[in-house]
Amino acid sequence: MSFGEPLKIGSTIGILGGGQLGRMLALRAAELGFDVHIYDPEPDCPAGRVAARCISAPWDDLAALRDFASHVDVITFEFENVPHESLSHLAALKPVRPSQKSLEQTQDRVIEKTFINGLGLATASYAPIIDVEDLTQAAEDVGFPAILKTNRFGYDGRGQVRIKTEADLIAAWEGLDQVACVLEGFVDFVCEVSVVLARSQSGATQIYDCVRNVHKAGILHTSHVPSGLSDELEAAARSAAQQIADALGHIGVLAVEFFVTPQGDLVVNEIAPRVHNSGHWTQDGCITCQFEQHIRAVALWPLADPARHSLAMTMQNLIGSEINTVPTLIADPNVSLHLYAKRSARPSRKMGHFTRVKRVALGVK
Ligand code: AMP
Repeated sequence: MSFGEPLKIGSTIGILGGGQLGRMLALRAAELGFDVHIYDPEPDCPAGRVAARCISAPWDDLAALRDFASHVDVITFEFENVPHESLSHLAALKPVRPSQKSLEQTQDRVIEKTFINGLGLATASYAPIIDVEDLTQAAEDVGFPAILKTNRFGYDGRGQVRIKTEADLIAAWEGLDQVACVLEGFVDFVCEVSVVLARSQSGATQIYDCVRNVHKAGILHTSHVPSGLSDELEAAARSAAQQIADALGHIGVLAVEFFVTPQGDLVVNEIAPRVHNSGHWTQDGCITCQFEQHIRAVALWPLADPARHSLAMTMQNLIGSEINTVPTLIADPNVSLHLYAKRSARPSRKMGHFTRVKRVALGVK
């Protein structure tokens, strides 16, 4: 079986989506000698400003998509909400990595949970809600407390509402414009962890150390490494993430978020078929960061060493007005700062992140 040729030095990589993940992918790709073209409906997006070219056009602009494809050697994406039709159109013109399967199984929460359960892995209890008749059945099947989430396009706590009673459920669904949703049972968890891995086209996989994540208002606030999980549980989380990546035939970086229950069980919350916020610590804490691994996988280059080279790391997001703490942060010599150059600091918007590293002490002779 042929796996295709490694991308030649100086080739061009097309990235769908121009947010901070696209920006950090583009910067790392540039260090590996690639040109990057960005496609994003938003002109002046963070990634476009560090790329060789940026096309700003709607996702359904077939002529613009064709133009984009004609100037790149391979296409990847920084977010999972790229419309299916746009990706199919592009896939007929140039290799797309990861493939459409990785998107199809993870864009829609019900499809994603069905896929995860099909692998024998646990999720929260859930019930799909398509029309008003489903509400009572979902309330019966899942019970309360619960969380109502839009099936698609939800991120950073958007498109989800906590529910205590059936009356709350009806009001919340109306508040979400009665779009297709999923009602999820509330998982009693002691902590949230994630596993970020990179998988190559041949199936070779490199897995980063497990991360413990703290969310505030549904948005990732801080990631800690080491995670504090027992070796046994960390091995189980890594193995579940590997199983998911293998089943998708995934090429590139993928993240799996888990809840850890008081009984020590792992419950999969969601899969991100892309580089992930909980993998940002790898930029300062590992031999090879998640962004380089993704570019290597997409380019069909061998993956590199994901080993952590520091004792401990924390990564903290700068959200909204927290960007105003930058003058204090830059005065701290132990802080490594990564800013996304977004033009306005709206509430809940991820503006940047920083890491603090606890170093291995070097032996003094
Ligand atoms: P999500 O966007 O689905 O990752 O949800 C964002 C955050 O909301 C998660 O990281 C959890 O902190 C919380 N959350 C989401 N779903 C559940 C659930 N079923 N049970 C408990 N907490 C949840």
